[in-house]
Amino acid sequence: MSDIHSDLVLFNELVEVLLNEEEKHPVAERIDSNKLYDSIDLSLSAEAMVDKEFKHVLKDVLVSTPKTATKLFFNQLFGGRQGKAVLGDLLAVMLNNSMYTYKVAGPQVGIEQEIIRQSCDIVGYGAQSNGTFPTGGSMSNYMALVMARDFMDQDCKDRGMSKPMVIYTSEESHYSNDKNASFAGIGRKNIRYIQADSKGRMIPEKLEAQIAEDLSNGFVPTYVNATAGTTVLGAFDPIDQIADITEKYKIWLHVDGAYCGSVIFSDKVKHLVDGIERSDSFSYNAHKMIGTPLTCSVILVNDKKHLHDSFNNEADYLYQTDGDDFNLGKTSFQCGRRNDALKFWTLWKSVGTKGLSEIVDQQFTLADVARDYVRKNKDYTLYSFDESISICFNYKNIDPTTLCTALYEHQVAVVGFGSFNNDTFVRLVTINANNTKHDILNFFQALEDFVDQTPNLLQVPA
Ligand SMILES: *Cc1c(COP(=O)(O)O)cnc(C)c1O
Repeated sequence: MSDIHSDLVLFNELVEVLLNEEEKHPVAERIDSNKLYDSIDLSLSAEAMVDKEFKHVLKDVLVSTPKTATKLFFNQLFGGRQGKAVLGDLLAVMLNNSMYTYKVAGPQVGIEQEIIRQSCDIVGYGAQSNGTFPTGGSMSNYMALVMARDFMDQDCKDRGMSKPMVIYTSEESHYSNDKNASFAGIGRKNIRYIQADSKGRMIPEKLEAQIAEDLSNGFVPTYVNATAGTTVLGAFDPIDQIADITEKYKIWLHVDGAYCGSVIFSDKVKHLVDGIERSDSFSYNAHKMIGTPLTCSVILVNDKKHLHDSFNNEADYLYQTDGDDFNLGKTSFQCGRRNDALKFWTLWKSVGTKGLSEIVDQQFTLADVARDYVRKNKDYTLYSFDESISICFNYKNIDPTTLCTALYEHQVAVVGFGSFNNDTFVRLVTINANNTKHDILNFFQALEDFVDQTPNLLQVPA
């Protein structure tokens, strides 16, 4: 058995290895998945491993694991590294609390509640609002759906589904909506996918027409999931217009801001979620735009009664001291729950709300740089639009799936592709606020140099 002090010394040594490696090789040396188990010793065995070999294996693992914090990672809706948030998360690991009770989490309860209270104020929710930290954006969508279901049919949680409920989301929304309909007993076939306009935004008139049709057929419209930042295009559904409809028909409105809901922190771009205060619930992932380590997802509920009604359960063995306001397990999905709040709080505390705003603004500035470059260069075609941090483009008509895979396999950059309507394109996500304008231009330069050097591989049309 080793003691924790020497393990932490080793930790620091390994982190130095990783940071150096990130500088030298921003894209990890890729191990072919077919060769993974032959390349690194991942095996577990009955015998202990000696310290020296153990360290060696750990280094191998670090070096070959994809690097998401570097300047050449644009593949996902997260990236980069906020130091103060990393600090908070490391402390959370050391503390190892569980967020269900004040008895076990103490001040960490207050830390989580302060983030929720501030977020509710910024969104414009009233005194009855509250929230929790689910495991992610998918779970946030799920919790919202369960609250909507229970609100529509108070008996449902005791007796099961008795009404033919239907729910609504745009065809561009996150795939978790599909799974959640199944989990919540609504049924995948009872989701109505509402058509999006040419910029990927839900069309409110189509939503209302569908609701009217469902009502006339005896269905019970229960829940609308609007998106603030769709997964491919980064589009924002028109919340105010959608809220006019959900209020008229008394349907729960959830805004899925997992990707771009953090625009609430910026005076420059929060107009993208105008009407957000009219929603019943709203979620955002701080591990996406804000740049905390994964996962850090927040769901806010306009009236906390719904959170309590759907997720509260008595448990005498657990809730032994303090009131419900301090025993957060009464409003969460899980029992034991990781402390995802501390990393967000250490960041927020150290940079202030103004600092969060700068993080968000920087992403839109970088997106402008990228769009500008694409627009001014005739070898590129742009598929996305202003006020989105997903820049979708093609280069010299090269097949984007081939291009992205080749860039990844040759360790040039990590970037993904997406589709909208009949087009497929490269999707560059400027979510890493540590990047500068230079880093974005460097990405395009690297891409162009790579294409110049490998014309055959890419079969560039003459
Ligand atoms: C990322 C994302 C989700 C899922 O969030 P997870 O934390 O990965 O579960 C849901 N909705 C949208 C719009 C997203 O971008």
